Amino acid sequence: RIVYVNGNYVPEPDAKISVFDRGFLFADGVYEVTSVIDGKLVDFAGHAARLRRSLAELKMEMPCSQEELLSIHRELIVRNEVTEGLVYLQVTRGVADRDFVFPSAATPPTLILFTQSKAVVDNPLADRGARIVSIEDIRWGRRDIKTVQLLYPSMAKMIAREKGADDAWLVEDGVVTEGTSNNAYIVTQDGTIVTRDLSSHILAGITRAAVLKCARDLQMKVEERPFTIAEAQAAREAFTTSATGFVCPVIEIDGAAVGDGQPGPVARRLRQAYVEESRKSAI
Ligand code: PMP
Repeated sequence: RIVYVNGNYVPEPDAKISVFDRGFLFADGVYEVTSVIDGKLVDFAGHAARLRRSLAELKMEMPCSQEELLSIHRELIVRNEVTEGLVYLQVTRGVADRDFVFPSAATPPTLILFTQSKAVVDNPLADRGARIVSIEDIRWGRRDIKTVQLLYPSMAKMIAREKGADDAWLVEDGVVTEGTSNNAYIVTQDGTIVTRDLSSHILAGITRAAVLKCARDLQMKVEERPFTIAEAQAAREAFTTSATGFVCPVIEIDGAAVGDGQPGPVARRLRQAYVEESRKSAI
């Protein structure tokens, strides 16, 4: 596999960054994940815009122009012959002697990108539906910034696995924030799609925006507000969205079946609509 590191395309074993990289020492960096369908990038502009925002919130510069980022993504897709999969982009505040204080703004950021080839459209978990457990959300208060600080989501996913579930939904002050690496939704008994409103409590999913647009285009009713686990368990359907999982039905929450315990029609319809739209608009 060929990866991109600070201007160079190199075989993975030759790719190296400093032990003093602030990403390693302080989790001082942000990332993006863009899916690839038919060798093309899904919603690249959205991911680039969110990257720009994450960097600005942390007082970091864009490592290069959006056009250059696009060409690096495309070059890696070609070099690694990715027809379907993901492109990860990670950028850190760069290399400096260890100090909590940020290094000078002239310090070059570290930019790395790598690909993963895998089926994203045909996904067994989306066919079966995911089992979810709820876990307390003890992450920091700026979840709107897509930082590389992923320890708690990783721990939450392990807790879910230990409990025989696929993933976790995080709960704060009695209401669901989001999934470990996705946004969370329910479909109420009257057919309304409910998902948490945007704030610093959750990441503004790029897939969330696209799927809510699909839903509104399909004349589905959407409400952006918090909901509880009890409300989710009593819902007709539940699902998640992310660039890696698209729309993924949820069939069980804390051991209770959601609806009839099968992937629901709204989630299936939205998944199909989102994939169709993505095939058309990918670049
Ligand atoms: N919330 C969190 C915490 C995430 O990590 C992700 C995926 N990176 C999402 C939501 C979904 O965002 P997107 O649709 O842009 O992948």
